Amino acid sequence: MENILREGLAALGVPADEGQIRQMAAYGRLLLRANETTNLTAIREEEAAARLHFLDSAALLTTADFAPGMAVADVGSGGGFPGVPLRILRPGLRLTCLDSVGKKMDFVRGACREVGLEDVTCLWGRAEEMPALRETFDIVVSRAVTELPLLAELCLPLARPGGLFLAMKNPDCDEEAARAAFAVKALGGRLREIRRYTVPGTDTVHAVVVVEKVRPTPLQYPRRWAQIKKKPLLG
Ligand code: SAM
Repeated sequence: MENILREGLAALGVPADEGQIRQMAAYGRLLLRANETTNLTAIREEEAAARLHFLDSAALLTTADFAPGMAVADVGSGGGFPGVPLRILRPGLRLTCLDSVGKKMDFVRGACREVGLEDVTCLWGRAEEMPALRETFDIVVSRAVTELPLLAELCLPLARPGGLFLAMKNPDCDEEAARAAFAVKALGGRLREIRRYTVPGTDTVHAVVVVEKVRPTPLQYPRRWAQIKKKPLLG
């Protein structure tokens, strides 16, 4: 795992020292071990975990400026992706992982402690039901949670005006992004660009939809999940 991470990060142009490589490998092994009894990821092999969890997450660092001290939220973090690799690679980030499944956050909390990431905050709950976190994050990230028109309503209210929302998507997401245009605008966002990258050592191309938070989110959002799902903001 260490070699794949070292070479892949170099290919991405993301600097990492040996301590950070070891921390990622240790977290990855804890994930795969826990996954034998708790459903955290469909990936079961070290090489695939290194590439499709850690390197994929690290690629986000090439799409925006994750500056020291920034508050970052990972919405629907699951086993800790993309948030935990970002925090390992940029120790100055203040990371909050949140997920609606408690046992996933129990894993992330425990594994973070084991690899020496004591400052990561792990919250069990639904992103749309966290009013205390409203507009408190510089960057909100999310991978594989839901369709962009719905995801925007979970994530954009958490970003501060002037901040960013980065949604990790499949490369053919143009149509999905177009369908999210109304929601993004209604929630105070502006689509900046879609960046594509190849996960090092694979043929897998992924995309990051980069949304700027340009205005505060109107107070009627986010709605409850049942409403978001029943009546997505589609214009
Ligand atoms: N982001 C991780 C990754 O890419 O490996 C996990 C992806 S998993 C397919 C989606 C996660 O989103 C699940 O763990 C689920 O519990 C969580 N989730 C779905 N809706 C959510 C919501 N409204 N608030 C918080 N978490 C949510």
